[in-house]
Amino acid sequence: MKDIRLGVLKEDNNKTVIYVDDVAIGKGFCVIAGPCSVENEKQTIETAIAVKESGVDMLRGGAFKPRTSPYAFQGLGLKGLKILKKAKKETGLPIVTEVIDTRDVPWVSEYADVLQIGARNMQNFSLLKEVGKTRKPVLLKRGMNSTLEEWLYCAEYILNGGNPNVILCERGIRTFETYTRNTLDISSVPSLKGLTHLPVIVDPSHASGRANLVPPLSYAAVAAGADGLIVEVHVNPSEALCDKDQMLNTIEFENMLKKIRKLHSFMKDSE
Ligand code: PEP
Ligand code: MN
Repeated sequence: MKDIRLGVLKEDNNKTVIYVDDVAIGKGFCVIAGPCSVENEKQTIETAIAVKESGVDMLRGGAFKPRTSPYAFQGLGLKGLKILKKAKKETGLPIVTEVIDTRDVPWVSEYADVLQIGARNMQNFSLLKEVGKTRKPVLLKRGMNSTLEEWLYCAEYILNGGNPNVILCERGIRTFETYTRNTLDISSVPSLKGLTHLPVIVDPSHASGRANLVPPLSYAAVAAGADGLIVEVHVNPSEALCDKDQMLNTIEFENMLKKIRKLHSFMKDSE
């Protein structure tokens, strides 16, 4: 990375803090949780209320799902965004939701507090330029085959458009290992914290693809110095339309979050 002079790179000890309603990302530890996809109003609102009670900062939920199979559930689209709006009204939680098409950026921005760019779209340069025109915080997931340098260049596209509000999300990369869905590159967290001033969060759900691995990977993320987590949670994981194997139920999530808060305080106190 020595030959690039990028706006994303860290100079001195500066650190970007991104404000979304009352949430400060890059300051303290930010937890985003919710279902993989918005399936219906009941599932979304019930999950939102449960994660809010556990003390999360923001709600996640996809209304547009980029699926490997064209026959898999693709999301509810506008109907899903309306449900998310209702969930925000009920809980006060800001909404993190994915945008997959340049044409959708302006109107999805009306429903989203944070625009998610998924792993499969990390290098969709038109989409990066489009979200760069807005001032909405963007959660930029790492492409599953991408290096840190390629990822940072993508963040740079958004910054160059005039939008400084980028959150990087490590979500695992493809390796020869097939036991887990991806391989969480935990070393990317401290590496990025040294390289860039942008906040870095971890997605243990897509990194592992297995619910039982989500808590240990989350603890590892806290210990590695991440600024937060994005976790998939469902009121009834066995009935989830998308990513059911990696979904925590609300009780498992609550138990995990208690440990995360303690671990984060311990890490902070021992700095
Ligand atoms: C998601 O967060 O719902 C998702 C599809 O993740 P990724 O883009 O990391 O695969
Ligand atoms: Mn998912």
